[in-house]
Amino acid sequence: MQVELTNHTKKLCVIGDPIAHTKSPLIHNTMLRALGLDYIYMAQSVPKGATQDWLQAAKLAGYAGFNATMPHKLDLIPLMDHLDEDAALYGAVNAVAIREGKAYGYNTDGKGFLKSLLEAEIYPEGIRAVILGAGGAAKSVALKLAQQGARSITVCNRTSEKADDLCRLDPTGTLRPAAMDSHTLAQLMTDTDLLVNCTPLGMDGTEGQFQDLSFLDNLPAAASVYDVIYAPAETLFLEQARLRGHKTINGLNMLLWQAIFALEQFTDTAIDGQTMKEVLKPVLAL
Ligand code: NAP
Repeated sequence: MQVELTNHTKKLCVIGDPIAHTKSPLIHNTMLRALGLDYIYMAQSVPKGATQDWLQAAKLAGYAGFNATMPHKLDLIPLMDHLDEDAALYGAVNAVAIREGKAYGYNTDGKGFLKSLLEAEIYPEGIRAVILGAGGAAKSVALKLAQQGARSITVCNRTSEKADDLCRLDPTGTLRPAAMDSHTLAQLMTDTDLLVNCTPLGMDGTEGQFQDLSFLDNLPAAASVYDVIYAPAETLFLEQARLRGHKTINGLNMLLWQAIFALEQFTDTAIDGQTMKEVLKPVLAL
């Protein structure tokens, strides 16, 4: 992508380790060019343990903000001057805006998930949800559903302690932990309106895959199935749900909306998200 820099160009970036395969510069620079904003968005490799040094350097170098991915999301929490409600609840920051030397921490993953859900005409209030996984993505999804008034949310995870830990974060008391074996899942499906995969099973570049998806047979016909993975666009999990007649949603819109919400904070600009999504989709070729 051709980017013209001026003396006034403001700096943004994503930090992480590893960071080489991040799509964030492509997404953000495409949006910035379309919006006509004089910013450049880069990728910075910042190792574990260097979060505080990076934040100091970013302030001194005049960065307007940055996104954070593994392994910095948790380490940023105590370094922020202000935290938004979701970042405080999840204990994780994925976007930092720097304003007059102060760091404002946000977590836009849950908001991105919710926006993508509403776009698919799935309304969380009163629903019964089952979440597969208990990592960072599951935390954003499960706690956002709880905040939005879901009736029940079951967090199924391979490592039971991690599901327990996630459920303890929920101030509404809606989350409950469960195992992720075929028998448990088959039993849970009969009372499920929304099933969300928040594990990397089936993602491009990973070895793992669901070995047995027969539990999907027990889902009610009207249940929707969501996979936070966006590459491939249709995982085996989503394909099997679609073949059984369910509404299916992949993680692309969640990814795009979390980026749009972060860029609004970095640039203090209200962004027409629908227009941006149309600009981004062909560029990402997903
Ligand atoms: P994470 O924090 O590492 O959590 C991974 C979760 O998956 C853990 O609960 C882990 O269980 C489980 N898991 C991993 N391998 C498994 C296997 N072979 N069998 C069963 N469970 C397994 O990762 P994350 O950040 O939540 O990311 C998860 C996925 O979400 C990734 O594919 C990521 O790309 C995607 N994601 C998408 C978006 C978006 O905007 N669309 C945003 C964030 C993440 P244990 O606790 O037992 O290890």
